Amino acid sequence: MLSEKMQAAINAQIQHELYSAYLYLAMSAHFEASNLSGFAKWTRMQANEEQEHSMKLFDFINDRGGRVKLEAIAQPPFEFGSPLEVFEQIYAHEQKVTSLIHKLYETALAEKDYPAQVMLHWFIDEQVEEEKNSGDIVAQLKMVDQHMGNIMYIDRHVGKRAED
Ligand code: MG
Repeated sequence: MLSEKMQAAINAQIQHELYSAYLYLAMSAHFEASNLSGFAKWTRMQANEEQEHSMKLFDFINDRGGRVKLEAIAQPPFEFGSPLEVFEQIYAHEQKVTSLIHKLYETALAEKDYPAQVMLHWFIDEQVEEEKNSGDIVAQLKMVDQHMGNIMYIDRHVGKRAED
């Protein structure tokens, strides 16, 4: 059985993951409107992944006999900057999510909730990937002059990688 504290902390993380999905979807809409279909595809796939993350937590609470409580999700931004600015925002966002996952893990340690600790190992690994993937794109965008031809080249590259 989940402790009240652990349940509340996981419910809060469900909200964070759904906000991440919402944020990536807003970015995808921005890239669609900018005719950058590779970045649009990448951020859309990220949005789907974030929703899957929220469902992993949703299932975990239910499997442990807890009660999922969905909270309101904040409105994401509507206006975004250049692709480099968006990916810098993504990288910073993922770093923030990593710190939230680590805090959640600390709660699982304090609560001596071993199943939650095991479940969260997956999220800890996932955040290493999330930071690496977004960090790599920031690095690529920084390597080139911000001319449209260069941006379009990276857009195509990122769009292909999203299919792997
Ligand atoms: Mg996530």
